[in-house]
Amino acid sequence: MKNMLYVAEIVDNTIVDGEGFRTSLYLSGCDIFCEGCHNRKLWDINYGQPMEIDEVFTKLISHFTNITFIGGEPMMQAAPLTVLAEKIKEYTSKSIWIYSGHTFEEILADMEYRRLIELCDVLVDGKYDRNYSRSNLKFKGSENQRIIDIKKSLAANETILWTDEFETIY
Ligand code: SF4
Repeated sequence: MKNMLYVAEIVDNTIVDGEGFRTSLYLSGCDIFCEGCHNRKLWDINYGQPMEIDEVFTKLISHFTNITFIGGEPMMQAAPLTVLAEKIKEYTSKSIWIYSGHTFEEILADMEYRRLIELCDVLVDGKYDRNYSRSNLKFKGSENQRIIDIKKSLAANETILWTDEFETIY
């Protein structure tokens, strides 16, 4: 179903999935299988419900907040998510953060994944590694994961980490 997204949950007004207040779109399905994953129920693509892209779009933009794609593994639904991201960028000025168990380099090497992240602003990349898990980390679960400024990285052709307004690198 090309115009559908498998959605586990839409969470509004969260402050843990990126900068500021955000609406998080939790996608169903994951093929990364990190040891110690806290979201195992989302591994099943049939967890939650299928929703039309337009319905998801309407729900996401009905809030004043910016938007985060998270899962699960969003890249499993890269094609319909790209359609959604195109609409968000065409009709709103909202920023999009995206989480993936794939690294930035792996994503850039895959044309379908790359098309999606080119529409997003910040990527939190890499597998969750419980050996590097710390409870005080902001916006990520383990220290090996990177928070990447996608636009700056693509423009400079190198990986540039995202910094917040206080210039702290995560
Ligand atoms: S990518 Fe995320 S949802 Fe998938 S196994 Fe790793 S931590 Fe869990």
